[in-house]
Amino acid sequence: MVSITAYGGVDEIGGNKFLLEDKGAKIYLDFGQSFNFGEEYFYEYLQPRSAHGLEVYFEFGLVPKVKRLYSKSMLEKTDFKYEEPDIDAVFISHSHSDHVNHIPFLDESVPVYMGHGTHRILEAYHKLYPQFCDIGEHSNMHFFKSGDRINVRHLIIEPVHVEHSVPGAYGFIIHTSKGPLVYTGDFRMHGPKSSMTREFIEKSVDARPYAMMCEGTRMASEQEHNYTEAEVEGKVDEIVKNSKGIVFGYFSMSNIDRFMSFYRTALRNKRILVIDTKFAYLLDNLKDKIKDLPDVLNDPSILVYFRLSKTGTYAESDYYLYERKYMGRMIAYEEISKNQKKFLMHMSFNKLMELVYIQPKNADYIYSSSEHFLEGEDNEKERKVLENWMEHFKVKFHKAHCSGHASRKDLEGAIKAINPKILIPIHTQNAGDFQGFHKNIVMLKKDGKVEI
Ligand SMILES: [Zn+2]
Ligand SMILES: [Zn+2]
Repeated sequence: MVSITAYGGVDEIGGNKFLLEDKGAKIYLDFGQSFNFGEEYFYEYLQPRSAHGLEVYFEFGLVPKVKRLYSKSMLEKTDFKYEEPDIDAVFISHSHSDHVNHIPFLDESVPVYMGHGTHRILEAYHKLYPQFCDIGEHSNMHFFKSGDRINVRHLIIEPVHVEHSVPGAYGFIIHTSKGPLVYTGDFRMHGPKSSMTREFIEKSVDARPYAMMCEGTRMASEQEHNYTEAEVEGKVDEIVKNSKGIVFGYFSMSNIDRFMSFYRTALRNKRILVIDTKFAYLLDNLKDKIKDLPDVLNDPSILVYFRLSKTGTYAESDYYLYERKYMGRMIAYEEISKNQKKFLMHMSFNKLMELVYIQPKNADYIYSSSEHFLEGEDNEKERKVLENWMEHFKVKFHKAHCSGHASRKDLEGAIKAINPKILIPIHTQNAGDFQGFHKNIVMLKKDGKVEI
């Protein structure tokens, strides 16, 4: 008997945490955190601290009360007794928080499998943002690459790379006692690495799967144009070409495809791309894992922004050890301010203070991240602050973005090609919409075990 218990990732975008059981074998597919995790109980400074274990999360039912899974220290103050884990493995598809964030709760003996790139990204983020990104202690970590075949009891798990908005993303083909099961993770087909997703689909077709767990982030997006990464790059290029001043761009650091779009735009327009020390550190640490990624230590088109700190003299001791490595590529506000047209600068919301020093003239700002921030009530206050800064410095605001997820049409194409006997929607708020694509849909239920 094969079954799936969804502890997250149903009726929501993200939070994937699926227990797959097959004749005594137990594996988790992802171990993520929901995007709305804890928002009903935690607010601003009312947050659980690292000294707390799982007791806070158990109290509010935010983490499943599952036996033989969590570590002794996490269970210490709970009414749960620690028992040796009975989980054979946890497989992580990629480094986004909604797929990986809860692995610090696991007992350290639980085998955790992830791609080499995912591990590299998580390590870098942990170094840069220890308060937000923790990997936890694991004595049994394994790293895979595309095409590997991993044996876990009688199961064989085949990770195959897919294109997503972060490098090192995978889907899995899992050979169970009932036949192959395809798990898409998060994927798209409209970026520069779409051949990876096509390879995943081809391998899935060849496996003749009986079941497919398919993400459906954009199931409801029938009407909207499916912007490609190439179109985003074209738009960014156009803005930069026409700009009479400095151009600021904001996008997620881990979105390396987007970074490359901005980098190529800088090259074409003979501008210098300016990134901060954190960004430099991430790129530097991914360099040997990603082909064609520029070397921040040597690339003449990239400079690293150092903001004023402590002594105000840019002394080495003013900066963290990891930052000092990039001082040879330093640029500060004085130079940028003098020659504004020469630069294309990464600028996140939290760094806007630098505008006071740069004093932008005729500047443009390209918001190149999830539109979520620009819509709805959730981020209204933050958005207003951004607007105020733009207005104050007379910066022209633009949007240029494409999704990390497959469009509804591409989802349909993938499902029809793979042609599983049963289709299981995950990572979506529109599971019902899958009905149009397949006649045999199996719906998962939060915390319920479903036989497949
Ligand atoms: Zn996701
Ligand atoms: Zn993702």
